[in-house]
Amino acid sequence: MERQVQRFVSVGECMVELTGSGPDLLRKGYAGDTFNAAYYARLALPASWAVDYVTALGTDAVSDEMIAFMEARGIGTGAIQRLAHRLPGLYMVHVHEGERSFSYWRSSSAARQLAADEAALSRALDGADILVVSGITLAILEGEGRQRLIAAMRRARQAGARVVFDPNIRPRLWEDAETMRATLMEGASAATLLMPSFDDEATHFGDGTVAATIARYRAAGAQDVVVKDGASGVTLAFGGEAIHVASEPVARVVDTTSAGDSFNGSFLAHLATHGNPRAAAQFAAHVAAHVIQHPGAIVAHDLRP
Ligand code: ADP
Repeated sequence: MERQVQRFVSVGECMVELTGSGPDLLRKGYAGDTFNAAYYARLALPASWAVDYVTALGTDAVSDEMIAFMEARGIGTGAIQRLAHRLPGLYMVHVHEGERSFSYWRSSSAARQLAADEAALSRALDGADILVVSGITLAILEGEGRQRLIAAMRRARQAGARVVFDPNIRPRLWEDAETMRATLMEGASAATLLMPSFDDEATHFGDGTVAATIARYRAAGAQDVVVKDGASGVTLAFGGEAIHVASEPVARVVDTTSAGDSFNGSFLAHLATHGNPRAAAQFAAHVAAHVIQHPGAIVAHDLRP
């Protein structure tokens, strides 16, 4: 008999986001790449899917508020570990003459310990039909956390899950470039579906073309690859020949934060329910085009597939 509920599980760090909202006033939000993807997947998935976020938080009031924020958006928080001696990470958005920059306070955040307890991590990922991990998730993990999470990704893949990896390359989160590249390729080898951004891959792996990015990740062991390339659209390599799907023209881009994350979550949700990569990419491009016309990472929409 088929199971009633299917599980979308995303693993990483959600931070407190502070954005200027007038002189000396800050507005509080919550965001982070893998959380954003879970949020957009939840908006597009039917009720027969559970969407869970897996991270570690503190036992403080801000951690409580973040959990309430997730729950209010239909995201399951039952697998979130609460660590008494840690706090959530935080970042502040600065806008200067239209250019955004970010300051982060995340170097000792609770999420860095999300893979410290192997049994808790295994329980959290158990039964996932779709598992989402990013290069940021791997970058922030302390101690043996990276290897533990990669091993858990391999187990999920063996158990038949779609294991999704977005390298989301952020050199500043890594101790050195060599470790970064080696660990990202190891993460990729544990995944079934890679969702990289071409400009990052070109910069940090020296790929000359989208085809080179696809070939590198295929050689590492990924079955399927979706290469995102901003306004130029995406290239889908599922099984046979690669196909290109255009982005949706946007007259005025307001804020590109979370373009890739909203694309990932929407694409995976559509693919899970309709099974057609091209249609999933068209839907995801539609959502991402909406998201970049609004400020912030978490944008409400009613664009159900
Ligand atoms: P990331 O945020 O990971 O770098 P991209 O910049 O490649 O990701 O963008 C992800 C998706 O967002 C693209 O595939 C496209 O659908 C959409 N997108 C991004 N920038 C634009 C743009 N300027 N115009 C229209 N769509 C865009």
